[in-house]
Amino acid sequence: MNTKYIFITGGVASSLGKGIIASSLAKLLQTRGLRVTIQKFDPYINIDPGTLNPYEHGECYVTEDGAETDLDLGHYERFLGVYTSKANNVTTGKIYHTVITKEREGAYLGKTVQIVPHITDEIKRRMLLLGQTGAYDVILTEIGGTVGDMESQPFIEAVRQLQWELPEEDCMSIHLTLIPYLSAAKELKTKPTQHSVQMLQQSGVKPDVIVCRTEHPLTPELRRKIALFCNVRPGHVIQSIDAWSIYQVPLNMHEEHLDELAVRKLQIDNYAQPDLSRWKVFLDRLAHPSREVEIALVGKYVELQDAYKSIREAFVHAGAANDCKVSVRLVHSEKVTPESVETLLAGVDGILVAPGFGERGLEGKICAVRHAREKGIPFLGICLGMQMCVVEFARNVLGWADAASAEVRPDSPHPVICMMEEQKKTTVKGGTMRLGAFACELSPESLAANLYGRTRISERHRHRYEFNSEYLGTFEEAGMKATGHNPDTGLVEVVELPDHPFFIGVQFHPEYKSTPENPHPLFVGLVRAALNR
Ligand code: GLN
Repeated sequence: MNTKYIFITGGVASSLGKGIIASSLAKLLQTRGLRVTIQKFDPYINIDPGTLNPYEHGECYVTEDGAETDLDLGHYERFLGVYTSKANNVTTGKIYHTVITKEREGAYLGKTVQIVPHITDEIKRRMLLLGQTGAYDVILTEIGGTVGDMESQPFIEAVRQLQWELPEEDCMSIHLTLIPYLSAAKELKTKPTQHSVQMLQQSGVKPDVIVCRTEHPLTPELRRKIALFCNVRPGHVIQSIDAWSIYQVPLNMHEEHLDELAVRKLQIDNYAQPDLSRWKVFLDRLAHPSREVEIALVGKYVELQDAYKSIREAFVHAGAANDCKVSVRLVHSEKVTPESVETLLAGVDGILVAPGFGERGLEGKICAVRHAREKGIPFLGICLGMQMCVVEFARNVLGWADAASAEVRPDSPHPVICMMEEQKKTTVKGGTMRLGAFACELSPESLAANLYGRTRISERHRHRYEFNSEYLGTFEEAGMKATGHNPDTGLVEVVELPDHPFFIGVQFHPEYKSTPENPHPLFVGLVRAALNR
C-alpha cells in the first residue's frame, strides 16, 4: 500500500481543536492496525517556537531529538504514544531558510526564485518526507492558522498541488470549521462555514469531509444544508460537539464515522475495526474518580490555558492512574510572597513549581518551595522549579542569603545554579539550549528510582543552567541529595530531600512523556503522595 496523506485545514476561527481532531482520527486509524504519524505545518516565520513567549503560542513542546515545537505535537504523542521528531513540525521560517540557503549556494542559478514553484516545492518536499521513510501507512498533516490568512496561502497551494500529483486514493482533505450558536435566535448558523469552504475551494482545495465544531447537535437538515452549499457528500458533514474531555474525542469521531470515511476515501482494505479497549479503560477511570486531590501549580504564565499544557495533561493521566480527580490550583508566582504564601497555598495536597525563564516570579517560586519543604507537602519541581528548590535550600537551610541562579544574578557570591560549560560559548539564542533526550542514572535507594522502578532512565531537557557541582558536598551533608546524574557528564539531574515525605526536583521535563496509556511515574507518585497526605 502507498503511504496515504490526510490534510487538515481549519476555518472560521482559530483554537477549534484541529490538533485534537487530527490526533483523534490518527488514534482511530492506529487502533485499526495502521502505522500513523501526524505533522504540523505552521505559517509563522520563526524557525521554531523556541524563541516565542508562551503568551504568544502556548507551551513549547520538546521532542526526543531536541526539536522545540508547537504544543500540538504534545497531543500527537499523548494520543498515539509514538514519538515525533524534528521533521514533524515545519514552519514558514524553515521553508524560507532552506530555499534562501539553496539560492545562495547556486541551486537555482539563472532562475527567479518564487513562491510558486520554489517555496511550494519545498513545502511539498517536507510534506512527503516522513512518508518516504516507509515507517508509516498514513501521515496526517495539520496546517496551522485559518484558511484565508495571508501566511497560510503557500501551504494551501501545496495541498492543492499534491491533491493532483498524488493518486486520488492516496490523498484526503478534511476541513474543520465552527458552527456558531446564536442564543438570541436559538439557532446554529452555517454561513461562516459556507464562506470558509468557499475560500478553501477558491484556492483549489476541495474538502472530502467537513468537521463542524459545535456546542449543540447538528440536525440532519443542517448537515444536508452544509453539504449542499459546501459541495461535499451529505454523509461527509460530521459534528464535533464540545466534549467533557479531549480524550473523549476519538470515540465521538468514531461515532460520526470519521475513521470509516477515511479508510473508504483512501481505499485502505484489510483494516480491522478500531480496538479502543485500552483507551476506554483510561476514559472510564477519568470519568469516575472516587477521590480528589488539589495540587498547586505555581508559575508565571498561569493565566494562559496552554502555557503549561503538558503538565496539566500529565496530571489528568496521573489522576486516572490513581482513581482520583486532580484539581489544579493555578497560583501566580508573582503573587506568592512570605506574607501571602499561607493563604495562596492553604489546603493544597501537593505543590508543583513550574519551568520557566528569567526573573519574573522567581522569588514567589522560592517561597512556594520553602512552604512545601517546611510543611512536608508533596513537592515536584521541574527544571526552573528544581533550580529554585536548590536556591531555596541554599538560602534557608545552608544560610546563604545571597545564593541565586546565575541566570538572574551572574555575580552572586553563591551561584548554586550556574551556566552549563557548553553554554558559555553560545551567543545565538534559537535552538541552542541543552535540548532533547539524555540518559540519567538514578541512585538505587532514591525516591526517583523507587517511582520509576529502575535506575537507568531517559528524559527530555530544555535549559542552559545546571546545579553547580562545586557545592554538592555541602548540600548532601545538610540533607539535599543529588539522586540522578547524567552518566556521561556527571550533571545533576535529580535532587531529593530524603527526610521529607515527597520532595523531588528534576532538571528534565517529565511532563513531555506522560500519556493516558503510560502516565508518568513522577506525576503518578506526586498524586499518590498527595492522596496519602
Ligand atoms: N531558565 C532555566 C535554564 O535555562 C530553566 C529552564 C526551564 O525551566 N525550562 O536553565
